[in-house]
Amino acid sequence: MLIVMHHKAGQKQVDAVVRAVEAMGLQAAPIPGSERTAIGVLGNKGYVDDSTIRDLPGVQEVIHVSKPYKLVSRDFHPRNSIVKVGNIEIGAGRRPVVAAGPCAVEGEEHILRTAKGVKAAGADLLRGGAFKPRTGPHTFQGLKEEGLKYLAAAGKAVGLPIVTEVMSPDNVGLVAEHADLLQVGARNMQNFDLLRELGRIRKPVLLKRGMSATIEEFLAAAEYILTEGNSQVILCERGIRTFETATRNTLDLAVVPLIAELSHLPVMVDPSHATGKRSLVPPMAKAALVAGAHGILVEVHPEPEKALSDGPQSLTFQGFEKLMKEIGGLSSFLGY
Ligand code: PEP
Ligand code: MN
Repeated sequence: MLIVMHHKAGQKQVDAVVRAVEAMGLQAAPIPGSERTAIGVLGNKGYVDDSTIRDLPGVQEVIHVSKPYKLVSRDFHPRNSIVKVGNIEIGAGRRPVVAAGPCAVEGEEHILRTAKGVKAAGADLLRGGAFKPRTGPHTFQGLKEEGLKYLAAAGKAVGLPIVTEVMSPDNVGLVAEHADLLQVGARNMQNFDLLRELGRIRKPVLLKRGMSATIEEFLAAAEYILTEGNSQVILCERGIRTFETATRNTLDLAVVPLIAELSHLPVMVDPSHATGKRSLVPPMAKAALVAGAHGILVEVHPEPEKALSDGPQSLTFQGFEKLMKEIGGLSSFLGY
């Protein structure tokens, strides 16, 4: 429920409404606006009887929000959120960021070499999986804690913040010690225990869209993190399952402007997992930025033909440098 106050309502009237909401056993979150204050009501399990609220002095309107997300929605938080990762700001009005690196950290030398390569080409963040959510158990599962340490060391060596996946609630503490941005993979978008645990830390989270998730489910998943107190969340579109098999997934680019309408959270796009095919990554990376993405996540490998995972969609250093130059060419169009 959202209580919209009259534009002439003063602080005393806002306070009285907050007290009335709290007396009902619910939480009230005032949202000051340039014209008027709104008060978000949280903690209700179903429809809230608004009869004791709507006639209070200063109340203009009571809106019942039927969506499964509130804190994530623009109704509750009209201004764009900016998420800080290391010293980098991600979100509307900021230069879009590029996170690049291998699918998986394959060794100390491997990740350091990749870090140097992507840094030289102008990447803003280093990506790399240490805990890998592979489809089957017989493929490379990642170097786990060892990989995390190699990734953190490589990031430090070249001066790039790192983003890496966390798969289980038990590992949130460990991954948060090393990572600047914690990634929730598509397969874990609805791992609610993991989402809640991430809501309790004070590090930003990159939440990927589940491969069969609707936008409503995607935003409701983010709501779990915000509800626990962590509002530093970036959403990431990475392609969805459709009837089409020519590409690994179908990149749903319309969600970029759609999410900007529905939510205040920044959105990134992963054209690598969305297409599964190296040649398609640069055009879709650029399309994502033109559609308004606040950043992209791109897989890059020094020798893609030898990659332990996702070689066919990984860019070479040369391919990545070319893409970075092309992205630079979009800067005046994108307004930075
Ligand atoms: C990844 O980014 O390493 C990854 C596994 O992606 P997704 O969860 O989108 O499949
Ligand atoms: Mn991958």
